[in-house]
Amino acid sequence: MKLEGIKGIGPKILKTLNSMDIYNTDDLINYYPYRYDIIKQSDLDNLEQGDNIITEGIIESNPNLFFYHQGNRMSFRIKSKNKLFNVVIFNRMFLKQNLNIGKEITVLGKFSHNKNTIVANDILFKKIGDETTIEPVYHLKKNISNKVLNNIIREALKISYDFKEYIPDYLVSKYHYLKKDFALNIIHNPSCEKYLNKALETLKYEELFLFASRINSFQRIRINTLGIERNVSYKFLEEIISSLPFSLTTDQLFSIQEIYNDMISNKQMNRLLQGDVGSGKTIIAYLALYINYLSKYQGVMMAPTSILAEQHYHNFMKLFDYIGIKVKILTGGMSKSIRQKILSDLKEGKIDICFGTHALFTEDVIYKNLGLVITDEQHRFGVKQRDMLKDKGRLVDILYLSATPIPRTYALTIYGDMEVSSIHTMPQGRIPVKTKIVSMDDIKEVLTFMYNEIIKNNKIYVVAPMVEDDLDKESVYSLKEKMEKAFSKVTKIGLLHGKMKASEKEKVLENFAKSDMNILVSTTVIEVGIDFKEATGIVIFDANSFGLATLHQLRGRVGRNDMQSYCYLIDEYNSKRLKILEETNDGFKISEQDFKNRGSGDLFGIRQSGDKNFKIASLIEDFDLFKKAKEDSLEFVEKYMDYPKYEMIKEKIEKREYNA
Ligand code: ADP
Ligand code: MG
Repeated sequence: MKLEGIKGIGPKILKTLNSMDIYNTDDLINYYPYRYDIIKQSDLDNLEQGDNIITEGIIESNPNLFFYHQGNRMSFRIKSKNKLFNVVIFNRMFLKQNLNIGKEITVLGKFSHNKNTIVANDILFKKIGDETTIEPVYHLKKNISNKVLNNIIREALKISYDFKEYIPDYLVSKYHYLKKDFALNIIHNPSCEKYLNKALETLKYEELFLFASRINSFQRIRINTLGIERNVSYKFLEEIISSLPFSLTTDQLFSIQEIYNDMISNKQMNRLLQGDVGSGKTIIAYLALYINYLSKYQGVMMAPTSILAEQHYHNFMKLFDYIGIKVKILTGGMSKSIRQKILSDLKEGKIDICFGTHALFTEDVIYKNLGLVITDEQHRFGVKQRDMLKDKGRLVDILYLSATPIPRTYALTIYGDMEVSSIHTMPQGRIPVKTKIVSMDDIKEVLTFMYNEIIKNNKIYVVAPMVEDDLDKESVYSLKEKMEKAFSKVTKIGLLHGKMKASEKEKVLENFAKSDMNILVSTTVIEVGIDFKEATGIVIFDANSFGLATLHQLRGRVGRNDMQSYCYLIDEYNSKRLKILEETNDGFKISEQDFKNRGSGDLFGIRQSGDKNFKIASLIEDFDLFKKAKEDSLEFVEKYMDYPKYEMIKEKIEKREYNA
């Protein structure tokens, strides 16, 4: 249903909702809180830096409003239990008219010793007294408050609505799950923790069940069908390996042997190659493409961004151009005529190997005889993309590359019966990156470091969590301004983020390759595969807003040459969670840790990759629930899925949408 009819939605809010990808009531109701605040007054004694704080108080000074690029900041004083606090809140200037001296409010935020400040996430215009309430917290854009969004969603829920249930009835009763509409109501309007937990579990289980069912039904087909049996002598592989400009590490050699064995067998290959950033997975992928080429099949390698696809294409050409393989690249940003030419060449078999993005798998792409598909940075893609391959008609061999090492037991559960190869060691001659956690008070040290690297003409990445200013986080724009202030006399500064057009991104990277640009301010888009040998420093702001795995990935952008490289993790408050990054460069260890403190795990980058598969569940945080859902789904797919009464669920599974 359209949003216009809902109480509380005017043109301005409608625009904001659209910018949050909310276009109808379905989207609205499925816009879940990302956390819940248990609202209860904090003890104001013994406050520590970074503590969450909730306190009611009386406003003591009129708010001051500051504007800066793309955002604004308000500050004022409150008195709370005879203590004075400085309150700072970002991008809520619309609250100003209600923040008058003498007014009683409740402030929710984080405490900082610096001027006894509360960096507020939210302000309630009431006292809360001694009661405890549960407040759903949503990701927000400017111009909409948590309260307003919550009210709108609750209005939408009042409208009678056809909520489809995708958990088979026998499982609903087995686990005493809630009806969908009841669960959704509770999610947005929780009254007690017990019901909230049940509602969360119900919705999560549904997503995980559908997800597992997709994998299970895919595997049911795979196991029962033969793959491509190739006839390629290992001798050819050895020859090409010995012609490489470096010798392969033991784990690289072992991995390529495993891949070779898969490829010559009559089973379909379905293998994950995992290894840390820089461990040398790419060359193994190229060798697999070569084996595939020798057996006269077409091969493709899909990367999550066009930048990375370009890089693969060029690197491959550098190494293998002399052989006379016909290699092309296909990405989303290409002109129609070039695209048409490539499509017809693929169809006629005039291309042997094609690099690209998911543009390789849109409906109109037809391959003459596809034999191997490689997806790089596999964790960045959802299972949805993985399964697009199925549409291309045959059981091709599949190789996934992933730079987020997953402990083996988890890998096997999450990916089903996928085989796993691991590269544990780095190529020789790498100097481990030195990592240091610092607070904003130490920013001088960081700037000095940067200056020294710049005058040596080394390159530095500066990373911010956000594209736009969002509450109290740094954005790439505000950071770029700061960098300009500090360094515009000594270097040019580039800006890169995911919302830029592919052509703009390429331009920036081209410029960054030149010697007069030494700083690149970026979001996590650089996490994926970008390779500048001269990069010796990475400075990450608001480090706590990233998962460990992401930080480790980002750090992997430096230390790609024989110089000592450094990684600075900056945050207002020091977090124990980040310590492991100072202690080790071993991705398998970091990933174990990420699993252990699941609360913060983003091992697969699922949340940040914008993967639409999971709106509420997380494979990591909800791993135990996933195991249960997977077992149940196995039985369902094997025994019950074809029953007429489950037709709707089956359709959903085969439609490849996981969230209801
Ligand atoms: P990743 O595993 O992160 O994809 P890459 O495959 O991009 O890592 O490898 C990182 C760099 O190491 C590349 O420049 C690559 O050419 C180089 N490299 C790969 N294997 C070796 C090796 N055995 N010896 C020396 N350098 C290597
Ligand atoms: Mg790579």
